[in-house]
Amino acid sequence: MSRRLRGLPASPGIAMGPAWWFRRTLPVAMRTRGEDAAVERMRLQAAQERAAAELAALREAQRDRLSPEELAIFEAQELMLQDPELMAAVEAELVAGASAEAAWRKAVEAFAAQLAALPDPYFQARAADVRDVGNRVLRHLAGGPEAPSMPDHPVIVVADDLLPSETVSLDPRRVLAFVTEGGGPTAHAAILARRLGVPAVVAVGADLQTVPDGVLLLVDGEGGWIEVEPDPETVRQAQARRALWLQERAQAEAAAHEPAQTRDGVRIEVAANVGSLEDAHEAFRNGADSIGLLRTEFLYLERTAAPTEEEEVAVYRALLEAMGGKPVVVRTLDVGGDKPLPYLPMPPEANPFLGVRGVRLSRQHPALLRQQLRALLRAGAGFPLRIMFPMVSTVEEIRWLREFFEDVRSTLAAEGHPLPQDLQVGMMVEVPAAALLAEHFLPWVDFFSIGTNDLTQYTLAADRTNPAVAGMADGLHPAVLRLIRHVTAAVEGTGKWVGVCGELAGDLVAVPVLIGLGVQELSVNPVRVPEVKAAIRRWSLADARALAEEAIRQADAAAVRSLVAEARPPMPATA
Ligand code: PEP
Ligand code: MG
Repeated sequence: MSRRLRGLPASPGIAMGPAWWFRRTLPVAMRTRGEDAAVERMRLQAAQERAAAELAALREAQRDRLSPEELAIFEAQELMLQDPELMAAVEAELVAGASAEAAWRKAVEAFAAQLAALPDPYFQARAADVRDVGNRVLRHLAGGPEAPSMPDHPVIVVADDLLPSETVSLDPRRVLAFVTEGGGPTAHAAILARRLGVPAVVAVGADLQTVPDGVLLLVDGEGGWIEVEPDPETVRQAQARRALWLQERAQAEAAAHEPAQTRDGVRIEVAANVGSLEDAHEAFRNGADSIGLLRTEFLYLERTAAPTEEEEVAVYRALLEAMGGKPVVVRTLDVGGDKPLPYLPMPPEANPFLGVRGVRLSRQHPALLRQQLRALLRAGAGFPLRIMFPMVSTVEEIRWLREFFEDVRSTLAAEGHPLPQDLQVGMMVEVPAAALLAEHFLPWVDFFSIGTNDLTQYTLAADRTNPAVAGMADGLHPAVLRLIRHVTAAVEGTGKWVGVCGELAGDLVAVPVLIGLGVQELSVNPVRVPEVKAAIRRWSLADARALAEEAIRQADAAAVRSLVAEARPPMPATA
């Protein structure tokens, strides 16, 4: 009998096919006591060598299919096999009489647990990489087989969770979709699914274990649910939806490099959010008109000392060049109590999201901000550079920032550096106070970029990192929409512009509402660019405005979503 299981949407699309459980083959019985420390040490060494050779071979075989980030994960795993701290922990266990398996497993688990306990989701995700390489060594110790091999027909891959080396062991031609019990939208399975263009639903929970191997599954990656053994009528509807999705996607991709215009001829800029050079290449390939948000944290995190000005200049210039002369909005460093930097003293805070983060931290460390602005202005000579500040909450802050910026600019000019010509300076609107008083901030900026991730968490008092309140933090909540309306109203007729760079901008349901509210630029995940452009082309601005007017009068986000679902016009044949 058909039944539906809910998870989180991780990659859009509709797919149907047999479930194939990806089951790991880990040694069942494990010796805990060793015979002799020297023998155990040699066994472990041999297993580590085999694991290292396997990782190197995997990395080389897949080099063309992997992103630089994924390649870096493999390299980090190879290095981990020789990590002196880890090996010291293993050695202590061996000397105390443990078997190679037990010593290795205990040390690896302690290391992974340390990473998993860190507040940053990036490090938490690295815990999975550590366990992955740990299991690889354990398999060799037990003489066990590699990851299970796929059937020879297309399947829906169902798993507890998928590790990086496991995702690359799958043949992408036979993967119809991914469904995982755990993980989140940033887990490896989700990233791989988006790159392959197949749907994925993650975080389905323990109920997924009740899905038998081989059973027919329907996966809706946009809605974030799966249906087990759908009835014939649901199958028929799903086939029609899949055909429509594939057709619309092909149309969207064919037109990805064209500008996005509404039916009544209004151009909306579709930009990309990037956090690395590789993202920028992807944004360019996918037809992004610009970069609407460059998160610069990647330059500062995971290192023991701040980058030098020269290092920063080189990275910014490479990014500007990757975009081939298209505009790039760079956000100054946005860290704080929830994302500590080892080289900046930050006392622990009870409520880091309400504490010293974003520009509040930058003001405490003006030398760091000065260096970043200098590097940006130097790298930006000859490019359409835009700079913006995160987490601005008072007019006094933006005035201080603008004056600080002008001081940096005139110092550089006096030093004889060439500077960007059509530079723009803006701020993010992430705090309700800034949205409500937008007209008072306006004289200090050329544009506003609304960060709906933070604006939503502050408006609805729902911590964006707390899964227990994730359902409350929907950016289509009318309270958030009214704040956005305040910002666009302040800018109307001034020649300045408003963009949205939170996740909401890439939500196809939100697209007509945002442009109807007067937003002129949507900055989204690079893979979303073609579909967001296609969504804009469905609407006339006049219809989108009428829709937005109704949306802000609703009582909750669910009502806004059904309003849009009812109003969704068909895709124009020529789009
Ligand atoms: C936002 O808050 O919406 C935003 C884009 O910034 P970040 O997600 O980096 O906090
Ligand atoms: Mg933010």
